[in-house]
Amino acid sequence: MARQRILIIGGGMAGVSLGSELAVDHDVVLLEAESSLAVHSTGRSAALFLADYGPPPVRELTRRSEPEFARLSALPDVPPLLTPRGGLFTTWDEPSAAALTAAVASSPSMVAVTADRVRELCPVLRTDELAGCAFDADVRDIDVAALHGHYAGTLRRRGGRITTGARVVAADRVGAGWEVRTADGRTWHADALVNAAGAWGDQVAELCAGVGHRLSPRRRTVAIARSRVPIPAQWPVVADFAEAWYFKPESGALLLSPGDETEVPPGDVESDPLDVALVLERVNAATTLDLRSVRTSWAGLRTFAPDRAPVVGPHPEEPTLFSFVGQGGYGIQMAPALAGVGARLFRTGTLDDAVLAAAIDPGRARTALDR
Ligand SMILES: Cc1cc2nc3c(=O)[nH]c(=O)nc-3n(C[C@H](O)[C@H](O)[C@H](O)COP(=O)(O)OP(=O)(O)OC[C@H]3O[C@@H](n4cnc5c(N)ncnc54)[C@H](O)[C@@H]3O)c2cc1C
Repeated sequence: MARQRILIIGGGMAGVSLGSELAVDHDVVLLEAESSLAVHSTGRSAALFLADYGPPPVRELTRRSEPEFARLSALPDVPPLLTPRGGLFTTWDEPSAAALTAAVASSPSMVAVTADRVRELCPVLRTDELAGCAFDADVRDIDVAALHGHYAGTLRRRGGRITTGARVVAADRVGAGWEVRTADGRTWHADALVNAAGAWGDQVAELCAGVGHRLSPRRRTVAIARSRVPIPAQWPVVADFAEAWYFKPESGALLLSPGDETEVPPGDVESDPLDVALVLERVNAATTLDLRSVRTSWAGLRTFAPDRAPVVGPHPEEPTLFSFVGQGGYGIQMAPALAGVGARLFRTGTLDDAVLAAAIDPGRARTALDR
């Protein structure tokens, strides 16, 4: 039987990871609008692996990804994909301290720590006003470029093709398949489409099936601050547990974020100077760093479904359009498991884990909101 031709729309982590899985037994063609891959969310992340972050389906997919990260890291051409970082979570008021205590109780790796231990882990933190603090030794840094490069390389080695500079602008059902046009005037034919367009996921869903998934792209800012004191590379990521700021060492400087979630239309977003000023102010209030300026800053989009779980499976209105969107702020850390789950759903339409299948089913976001 001839291999099915699949067009994947989007060359970020979602598109290449699922594409590499599907290329085993399909003729995969990936179309990326930009002139290179991973220039949007995938290239702008904080590169963290946080097992106790996000809603239950995300935690489950992150947990399932861990052995896969280890397996991939053991391949001859792949560097270690996860490296120890550790996470120090701080709280500054009683409600946040109570939430942190509950998180510690339910986490296999998070432990409450004393002010003395906090000062050992990160001596610049002001501990006098801390309401509570916990350390998670399981937090890791992810080599995002190596993971993305591994998936893109595997997709190609398995016979798939990647075309950049190919923005999908029209898609029509023709016979049992699809005719797709890109902005450069080319026409592409396929048996099935995969929507891996990140922040543009609803635009692509509407283009192909007339209905989106109520995705909400949210801008998050990152800055690299100059510090007048040396920043030890082994510091953990230090975060306000309510996510008002976090920082971690980055090549001798500090990577900071104000944890912003400003809803914006999909696009090539830039950092807002007010958000950069805000994170400097917040980190200065919590530390003795006295940061005054940044070397550079950027912003990227974290795109969420209403319940913050990913949207994976056949589109409810158009089963030959497979949705692989809504990766939110977790699309790197859960990529290995999500790609496996996506490929299984693509091939068989079912998962052994019915709870997970229902939690990520593309039909549920609409139902939840229409109730
Ligand atoms: C500041 C920040 C920090 C983050 N930190 C973390 C973290 O620490 N850990 C973690 O796991 N996750 C993190 N994330 C989230 C993670 O980066 C995303 O979940 C993930 O990158 C999403 O991948 P994607 O492939 O869905 O989207 P993208 O990487 O944005 O890829 C989508 C691609 O689709 C293309 N496209 C769109 N429309 C079309 C079209 N019509 N035709 C062709 N191509 C199209 C776009 O050009 C784009 O390249 C962070 C995100 C941000 C912004």
